[in-house]
Amino acid sequence: MIIIKSEREISLMREAGKVVAEVFKQLEPLCRPGVSSEYLSNKAEEIIRERGCTPTFKGYNGFPGAICVSLNDTLVHGIPSKHIILKEGDIVSLDVGATYQGYCADACRTFAVGEIKENARRLIETTKQSFFEAVKLIKPGVRLGDISHRIQEYCEAHGYSLPRDFTGHGVGAHLHEDPVIPNYGKEGVGPILQEGMGLAIEPMVAEGKHYTRTLPDGWTTKMRDGKLSAHYENTVIVTKDGYVILTMYEGEK
Ligand code: MG
Repeated sequence: MIIIKSEREISLMREAGKVVAEVFKQLEPLCRPGVSSEYLSNKAEEIIRERGCTPTFKGYNGFPGAICVSLNDTLVHGIPSKHIILKEGDIVSLDVGATYQGYCADACRTFAVGEIKENARRLIETTKQSFFEAVKLIKPGVRLGDISHRIQEYCEAHGYSLPRDFTGHGVGAHLHEDPVIPNYGKEGVGPILQEGMGLAIEPMVAEGKHYTRTLPDGWTTKMRDGKLSAHYENTVIVTKDGYVILTMYEGEK
């Protein structure tokens, strides 16, 4: 069931979204060679709690970290660890959720660690741009399939593939609500967008083939072919004549 948010609920999600954005602002410069993924997660948790929120992912289905930190061929759900150390040339995805007075915001960025290769830079850029290409279409009356299709079309046109096992989702009082938002699909199908929907739109994009495998820890999900992957996500609200993004900070590019 798709839940339409009230003004009050949206304002709480907006507060959560600001905190998620603040985490990206403060963590991007910390994504340097020699830093552990656990350090980044601890920092994120500190920022989230200082601002009166809780880290949404901590304990979610038993997830042990405050945020997900996924390097290179890890597509999603990397468990923060003191043994995972960032090194020059890596790309690192930080997937961050904050809950404020019972309402969630969820977003992800992929950052460069030091100097990265041209192929990695292009993957990060295309992943991000696919989100903006898709989100441009959002307004009441549009079919969700149009959004999914646009992400797929844009990424495939750049030579990338879209993993099938992970999707975007509705978001609000729960981290994962209806509708499911695949990063692939057909135009003109799926639920019709309505004012007040909360959507976490999150292209997850692979440089190689789209197949993934999950490690025995039950979380860490890698590309089977070991090639790079990137992830970009924002929490978005459908408005009367378009959309608003809740998880970007002022001046963020
Ligand atoms: Mg999400």
